[in-house]
Amino acid sequence: MYLYNSLSREKEKFIPNVSGKVSMYTCGPTVYHYAHIGNLRSYIMEDILEKYLRFSGLDVTRVMNITDVGHLSSDGDTGDDKMLKGAKREHKTVMEIAKFYTDAFFEDCKKLNIKTPDVVQPATGCIDEFIKVISSLIEKGFAYEAGGNIYFDTSKLDKYYVFNDFKEEDLAVGVREGVEEDSNKKNKADFVLWFTKSKFDDQELKWDSPWGVGYPGWHIECSCISMKYLGDRLDIHCGGIDNAFPHHTNEIAQSEAYIGHKWCNYWFHVHHLNTNSGKMSKSKGEFLTVSLLEQKGYNPLVYRFFCLQSHYRKSLVFSYENLDNAAVAYNKIVAKIASYLGDEETEVDKEAYDKLMSGFVSALDNDLNTSLAITALYDVLKADTSAKTKLELISEFDKVLGLGLISEAQKLSDKNSEEYIPEEIAQLLEQRKEARKNKDFALADSIRDRISEMGYIVEETRQGTKVTKK
Ligand code: AMP
Ligand code: ZN
Repeated sequence: MYLYNSLSREKEKFIPNVSGKVSMYTCGPTVYHYAHIGNLRSYIMEDILEKYLRFSGLDVTRVMNITDVGHLSSDGDTGDDKMLKGAKREHKTVMEIAKFYTDAFFEDCKKLNIKTPDVVQPATGCIDEFIKVISSLIEKGFAYEAGGNIYFDTSKLDKYYVFNDFKEEDLAVGVREGVEEDSNKKNKADFVLWFTKSKFDDQELKWDSPWGVGYPGWHIECSCISMKYLGDRLDIHCGGIDNAFPHHTNEIAQSEAYIGHKWCNYWFHVHHLNTNSGKMSKSKGEFLTVSLLEQKGYNPLVYRFFCLQSHYRKSLVFSYENLDNAAVAYNKIVAKIASYLGDEETEVDKEAYDKLMSGFVSALDNDLNTSLAITALYDVLKADTSAKTKLELISEFDKVLGLGLISEAQKLSDKNSEEYIPEEIAQLLEQRKEARKNKDFALADSIRDRISEMGYIVEETRQGTKVTKK
């Protein structure tokens, strides 16, 4: 498989450190609010990558952190703690907020068929690891204390800006304009590893440390959690493109300073989901969630399909018009698949199977080209081959695509079947049964008439109540 690596800015053949095994780390959500569908675009594409590596026979171990402390409202080290902001907004404690939004995140993931990583680690559970690594960085001369905080000294590195050719003078603190500069820093790009002198006297979560009571910076958590579970040679690190700088740049700086050699080989960055008014962002307040799409009547898998139609390295514009188009296409695919069900007596046509499978594999082998993988799915639907061949291919493809194709087709075919009783009719039947039990035959008859108006006949037989479509 070839993957674009943000580090080399080239497509590279993917070769894991240990043959047959892949270690994969993903920056998890900052749990101060619901995930928006932009965040979830990143997690959908990372899920596809994980599933495709597994599909290719590799043994993947995937780790994700949960940011429940240390992420300030600027990705540099300034602004308020996002968690504290969330807690204040909802008059809850930080831990209550973290629990609520972590659960909400995994519920959204479930609806979108995003697999839960093998390890999910909240940052607040690894304070000892952070202290251990920060102590070692101080010892090795890569970190210093100033004004009560511990900073990473970026001037100690040969190359700090690994992802882009930033010029140092172009970069204000955390590349944000209008952010007041921290006068404790020796160099503009230095970043906080541990805060003790907090501007936030009401910071709820604080821990004892060799440098006083305080809390960790955001970047250190991902380095430490990744190394704790995946060791000091990581195959793939994932995240949204906004995380490349400063977050991932700082992760590389501190991890490599700590271990003394190259840390991660492949950096997989997903580009943004935008709306017509720009990047979707939690801090802007107004954003779209999976629940909102559901309330509007969309199947969350339609959103997944919408994401798969474009490449992860292109920004994607969300509009309801685009989502409606995706819904029409998705429903057509499902209806077509439903028409193959029950027609599986035939044999698998090996030649057709191999040819169609190779189209799918070569699309994903080429830097995870999901839109071409969808084209490969259409090729299956159009192919002149047996239903069994098509269903076997679709079920294999769906191990990666995760679009619930066979189960949605099954639901549709059940709905269309003679025996299918819609939910509203089932409820009316229950009410009629209750009325008959209470000997309220007038009510029972009026319910039967309503059911009849809705296209179903109710009859009492020796075997019990029988309902048939008119
Ligand atoms: P956060 O919860 O803010 O820490 O972000 C979680 C993940 O979503 C990170 O990998 C971000 O880079 C990613 N992300 C944030 N905004 C977007 C967006 N508009 N489109 C795609 N990914 C995003
Ligand atoms: Zn991270």
